[in-house]
Amino acid sequence: MRFDVLTLFPTMFEAVLGDSMIGRAREKGLIETNFIDIRDFTENKHRQVDDYPYSGGGGMLIAAAPVYNAYMSVAAGLDYKPLTIYMSPQGRVFDQQTASELSQHKHIILLCGHYEGIDQRVLDEIVDMEISIGDFVLTGGELPAMAVIDSVARLIPGVLGAEDGFKNESHYNGLLEYPQYTRPAVWHEKPIPDILLSGHHAKIEQWKHEQSLITTLKKRPDMLQKAALTKEDIEFLEGYKKEH
Ligand code: SAM
Repeated sequence: MRFDVLTLFPTMFEAVLGDSMIGRAREKGLIETNFIDIRDFTENKHRQVDDYPYSGGGGMLIAAAPVYNAYMSVAAGLDYKPLTIYMSPQGRVFDQQTASELSQHKHIILLCGHYEGIDQRVLDEIVDMEISIGDFVLTGGELPAMAVIDSVARLIPGVLGAEDGFKNESHYNGLLEYPQYTRPAVWHEKPIPDILLSGHHAKIEQWKHEQSLITTLKKRPDMLQKAALTKEDIEFLEGYKKEH
Protein backbone atom coordinates (compact mmCIF):
# COMPACT_ATOMS: atom_id res chain seq x y z
CA MET A 1 0.00 0.00 0.00
CA ARG A 2 1.27 3.46 -0.87
CA PHE A 3 0.83 6.74 1.04
CA ASP A 4 1.91 10.11 -0.37
CA VAL A 5 1.72 12.96 2.13
CA LEU A 6 1.58 16.56 0.90
CA THR A 7 2.90 18.73 3.71
CA LEU A 8 4.89 21.84 4.59
CA PHE A 9 6.81 19.80 7.21
CA PRO A 10 8.03 16.54 5.64
CA THR A 11 10.78 16.03 8.23
CA MET A 12 8.21 15.66 11.02
CA PHE A 13 7.15 12.28 9.64
CA GLU A 14 10.41 10.32 9.85
CA ALA A 15 10.59 10.89 13.62
CA VAL A 16 7.29 9.08 14.12
CA LEU A 17 6.99 6.66 11.20
CA GLY A 18 10.67 5.75 10.86
CA ASP A 19 10.82 3.38 13.85
CA SER A 20 9.00 0.45 15.36
CA MET A 21 6.50 -1.63 13.42
CA ILE A 22 5.68 0.98 10.80
CA GLY A 23 9.39 1.60 10.18
CA ARG A 24 9.95 -2.15 9.71
CA ALA A 25 6.91 -2.44 7.43
CA ARG A 26 8.38 0.31 5.27
CA GLU A 27 11.76 -1.46 5.17
CA LYS A 28 10.05 -4.72 4.18
CA GLY A 29 8.20 -2.90 1.39
CA LEU A 30 4.75 -3.69 2.85
CA ILE A 31 4.00 0.02 2.80
CA GLU A 32 5.54 2.79 0.73
CA THR A 33 5.51 6.31 2.13
CA ASN A 34 6.56 9.52 0.38
CA PHE A 35 6.59 12.88 2.17
CA ILE A 36 6.27 15.65 -0.38
CA ASP A 37 7.14 19.24 0.49
CA ILE A 38 4.44 21.55 -0.88
CA ARG A 39 7.00 24.34 -0.75
CA ASP A 40 8.97 22.64 -3.55
CA PHE A 41 6.04 23.41 -5.85
CA THR A 42 5.68 27.16 -5.39
CA GLU A 43 5.80 29.39 -8.44
CA ASN A 44 7.68 32.26 -6.77
CA LYS A 45 11.36 32.59 -5.96
CA HIS A 46 10.79 33.10 -2.22
CA ARG A 47 9.12 29.67 -1.94
CA GLN A 48 6.15 31.38 -0.29
CA VAL A 49 3.07 29.15 -0.09
CA ASP A 50 0.70 31.30 1.97
CA ASP A 51 -1.26 34.45 1.29
CA TYR A 52 -3.94 36.62 2.92
CA PRO A 53 -7.53 35.38 2.77
CA TYR A 54 -9.90 37.57 0.69
CA SER A 55 -12.37 37.36 3.58
CA GLY A 56 -9.94 39.18 5.88
CA GLY A 57 -9.55 38.16 9.50
CA GLY A 58 -6.39 36.90 11.11
CA GLY A 59 -4.12 34.28 9.63
CA MET A 60 -2.94 33.12 6.27
CA LEU A 61 -4.08 30.49 3.79
CA ILE A 62 -2.07 28.02 1.72
CA ALA A 63 -2.59 29.01 -1.92
CA ALA A 64 -4.13 26.65 -4.47
CA ALA A 65 -1.26 26.42 -6.98
CA PRO A 66 1.51 24.82 -4.88
CA VAL A 67 -0.94 22.29 -3.45
CA TYR A 68 -2.20 21.42 -6.93
CA ASN A 69 1.32 21.15 -8.33
CA ALA A 70 2.40 18.91 -5.43
CA TYR A 71 -0.68 16.75 -5.99
CA MET A 72 0.01 16.49 -9.73
CA SER A 73 3.61 15.46 -9.03
CA VAL A 74 2.07 12.28 -7.61
CA ALA A 75 -1.14 11.85 -9.61
CA ALA A 76 -0.10 12.84 -13.14
CA GLY A 77 0.59 9.82 -15.28
CA LEU A 78 -1.34 7.35 -13.10
CA ASP A 79 -4.17 5.49 -14.81
CA TYR A 80 -6.31 5.78 -11.64
CA LYS A 81 -7.08 8.55 -9.13
CA PRO A 82 -5.49 7.89 -5.72
CA LEU A 83 -7.95 8.41 -2.86
CA THR A 84 -7.13 11.96 -1.80
CA ILE A 85 -7.87 12.90 1.80
CA TYR A 86 -7.67 16.37 3.31
CA MET A 87 -6.89 16.26 7.04
CA SER A 88 -9.43 18.73 8.41
CA PRO A 89 -11.32 19.46 11.65
CA GLN A 90 -14.42 19.66 9.41
CA GLY A 91 -14.09 16.05 8.20
CA ARG A 92 -15.58 12.67 9.08
CA VAL A 93 -14.35 11.81 12.55
CA PHE A 94 -11.75 9.06 12.22
CA ASP A 95 -12.46 5.67 13.79
CA GLN A 96 -11.51 2.00 13.42
CA GLN A 97 -14.20 1.45 10.78
CA THR A 98 -12.73 4.25 8.65
CA ALA A 99 -9.22 2.82 9.15
CA SER A 100 -10.49 -0.55 7.97
CA GLU A 101 -12.12 0.98 4.87
CA LEU A 102 -8.96 2.93 4.00
CA SER A 103 -6.81 -0.21 4.32
CA GLN A 104 -8.62 -1.59 1.25
CA HIS A 105 -7.16 1.15 -0.98
CA LYS A 106 -3.85 0.61 -2.76
CA HIS A 107 -2.82 4.28 -2.90
CA ILE A 108 -3.82 7.21 -0.66
CA ILE A 109 -2.73 10.84 -0.81
CA LEU A 110 -2.98 12.72 2.51
CA LEU A 111 -3.06 16.51 2.31
CA CYS A 112 -2.00 18.40 5.44
CA GLY A 113 -3.16 21.98 5.89
CA HIS A 114 -1.54 24.65 8.02
CA TYR A 115 -2.20 28.27 9.03
CA GLU A 116 -5.94 28.91 8.52
CA GLY A 117 -6.21 26.11 5.97
CA ILE A 118 -6.12 25.83 2.17
CA ASP A 119 -7.79 27.73 -0.69
CA GLN A 120 -11.16 26.03 -1.20
CA ARG A 121 -10.82 25.82 -5.00
CA VAL A 122 -8.00 23.28 -4.95
CA LEU A 123 -9.80 21.26 -2.26
CA ASP A 124 -12.87 21.13 -4.52
CA GLU A 125 -10.73 19.96 -7.40
CA ILE A 126 -8.60 17.18 -5.86
CA VAL A 127 -10.06 16.04 -2.51
CA ASP A 128 -12.28 12.92 -2.27
CA MET A 129 -12.88 12.99 1.48
CA GLU A 130 -12.00 14.96 4.59
CA ILE A 131 -10.93 13.27 7.83
CA SER A 132 -10.81 14.80 11.29
CA ILE A 133 -9.13 13.11 14.25
CA GLY A 134 -11.55 14.76 16.68
CA ASP A 135 -13.54 17.86 17.48
CA PHE A 136 -10.59 20.07 18.30
CA VAL A 137 -8.28 22.21 16.19
CA LEU A 138 -4.57 21.54 15.72
CA THR A 139 -2.02 23.81 14.06
CA GLY A 140 -1.48 21.42 11.16
CA GLY A 141 -2.62 18.19 9.52
CA GLU A 142 0.69 16.38 10.14
CA LEU A 143 -0.22 14.69 13.46
CA PRO A 144 -3.61 13.60 12.08
CA ALA A 145 -1.96 12.21 8.92
CA MET A 146 0.51 10.24 11.06
CA ALA A 147 -2.35 8.82 13.12
CA VAL A 148 -4.15 7.75 9.94
CA ILE A 149 -1.05 6.13 8.41
CA ASP A 150 -0.19 4.31 11.63
CA SER A 151 -3.68 2.92 12.21
CA VAL A 152 -4.28 1.94 8.57
CA ALA A 153 -0.83 0.42 8.05
CA ARG A 154 -1.15 -1.94 11.02
CA LEU A 155 -4.22 -3.51 9.37
CA ILE A 156 -2.19 -4.52 6.31
CA PRO A 157 -1.26 -8.22 6.35
CA GLY A 158 2.30 -8.76 7.57
CA VAL A 159 2.72 -5.41 9.31
CA LEU A 160 1.95 -6.68 12.83
CA GLY A 161 3.94 -9.58 14.24
CA ALA A 162 0.84 -11.67 14.92
CA GLU A 163 -1.06 -11.81 11.63
CA ASP A 164 -4.47 -11.08 13.14
CA GLY A 165 -3.27 -9.44 16.36
CA PHE A 166 -5.57 -6.47 15.89
CA LYS A 167 -8.69 -8.66 15.95
CA ASN A 168 -8.69 -8.81 19.76
CA GLU A 169 -8.05 -5.13 20.13
CA SER A 170 -10.36 -2.34 21.20
CA HIS A 171 -12.86 -1.22 18.56
CA TYR A 172 -12.25 -4.11 16.14
CA ASN A 173 -15.52 -5.83 17.06
CA GLY A 174 -17.25 -2.81 18.55
CA LEU A 175 -16.00 -3.56 22.08
CA LEU A 176 -12.99 -2.49 24.13
CA GLU A 177 -10.23 -4.95 24.88
CA TYR A 178 -10.11 -7.02 28.10
CA PRO A 179 -7.41 -6.23 30.74
CA GLN A 180 -4.05 -7.92 30.16
CA TYR A 181 -1.25 -9.04 32.46
CA THR A 182 2.37 -10.12 32.05
CA ARG A 183 4.94 -11.61 34.44
CA PRO A 184 5.33 -11.73 37.38
CA ALA A 185 2.09 -13.51 38.33
CA VAL A 186 2.01 -11.54 41.61
CA TRP A 187 3.05 -7.87 41.74
CA HIS A 188 2.57 -5.51 44.71
CA GLU A 189 0.61 -8.38 46.34
CA LYS A 190 -1.80 -8.32 43.39
CA PRO A 191 -2.17 -11.74 41.74
CA ILE A 192 -3.36 -12.08 38.15
CA PRO A 193 -6.87 -13.65 37.75
CA ASP A 194 -6.67 -17.42 38.49
CA ILE A 195 -8.37 -18.32 35.22
CA LEU A 196 -5.31 -17.17 33.26
CA LEU A 197 -3.19 -19.87 34.93
CA SER A 198 -5.80 -22.60 34.48
CA GLY A 199 -4.62 -23.70 31.03
CA HIS A 200 -8.30 -24.08 30.06
CA HIS A 201 -8.35 -22.42 26.63
CA ALA A 202 -12.13 -22.24 26.13
CA LYS A 203 -12.74 -20.84 29.62
CA ILE A 204 -9.98 -18.25 29.11
CA GLU A 205 -11.59 -17.16 25.82
CA GLN A 206 -14.94 -16.86 27.61
CA TRP A 207 -13.32 -14.81 30.42
CA LYS A 208 -11.69 -12.50 27.87
CA HIS A 209 -14.99 -11.89 26.13
CA GLU A 210 -16.81 -11.19 29.40
CA GLN A 211 -14.05 -8.83 30.50
CA SER A 212 -14.38 -7.00 27.16
CA LEU A 213 -18.08 -6.56 27.83
CA ILE A 214 -17.45 -5.29 31.38
CA THR A 215 -14.67 -2.91 30.27
CA THR A 216 -16.89 -1.46 27.55
CA LEU A 217 -19.80 -1.11 29.98
CA LYS A 218 -17.62 0.77 32.45
CA LYS A 219 -15.60 2.96 30.07
CA ARG A 220 -17.70 3.40 26.93
CA PRO A 221 -21.31 2.31 27.54
CA ASP A 222 -22.32 4.24 24.40
CA MET A 223 -20.47 1.62 22.31
CA LEU A 224 -22.73 -1.17 23.57
CA GLN A 225 -25.68 0.44 21.77
CA LYS A 226 -24.03 -0.25 18.41
CA ALA A 227 -22.12 -3.48 19.18
CA ALA A 228 -23.42 -6.77 17.75
CA LEU A 229 -24.28 -8.34 21.13
CA THR A 230 -25.64 -11.88 21.43
CA LYS A 231 -28.53 -12.86 23.73
CA GLU A 232 -25.89 -14.36 26.09
CA ASP A 233 -23.94 -11.07 26.08
CA ILE A 234 -27.04 -9.08 27.02
CA GLU A 235 -27.94 -11.54 29.80
CA PHE A 236 -24.35 -11.43 31.09
CA LEU A 237 -24.37 -7.62 31.20
CA GLU A 238 -27.77 -7.51 32.92
CA GLY A 239 -26.49 -9.94 35.56
CA TYR A 240 -23.30 -7.94 36.01
CA LYS A 241 -25.22 -4.68 36.44
CA LYS A 242 -27.47 -6.23 39.10
CA GLU A 243 -24.45 -7.44 41.06
CA HIS A 244 -22.47 -4.19 40.88
N1 SAM B 1 -9.50 27.33 9.82
C1 SAM B 1 -9.74 25.92 9.87
C2 SAM B 1 -11.14 25.66 10.38
O1 SAM B 1 -11.63 26.43 11.22
O2 SAM B 1 -11.77 24.65 9.97
C3 SAM B 1 -8.75 25.25 10.81
C4 SAM B 1 -7.34 25.28 10.28
S1 SAM B 1 -6.20 24.43 11.33
C5 SAM B 1 -5.59 25.72 12.33
C6 SAM B 1 -4.84 24.13 10.25
C7 SAM B 1 -4.80 22.73 9.63
O3 SAM B 1 -4.65 21.78 10.66
C8 SAM B 1 -6.03 22.32 8.87
O4 SAM B 1 -5.98 22.78 7.54
C9 SAM B 1 -5.96 20.81 8.95
O5 SAM B 1 -5.17 20.27 7.91
C10 SAM B 1 -5.26 20.55 10.27
N2 SAM B 1 -6.16 20.16 11.37
C11 SAM B 1 -6.48 20.91 12.46
N3 SAM B 1 -7.29 20.24 13.30
C12 SAM B 1 -7.50 19.02 12.74
C13 SAM B 1 -8.26 17.89 13.13
N4 SAM B 1 -8.99 17.86 14.25
N5 SAM B 1 -8.24 16.81 12.32
C14 SAM B 1 -7.53 16.82 11.17
N6 SAM B 1 -6.79 17.88 10.75
C15 SAM B 1 -6.78 18.96 11.52
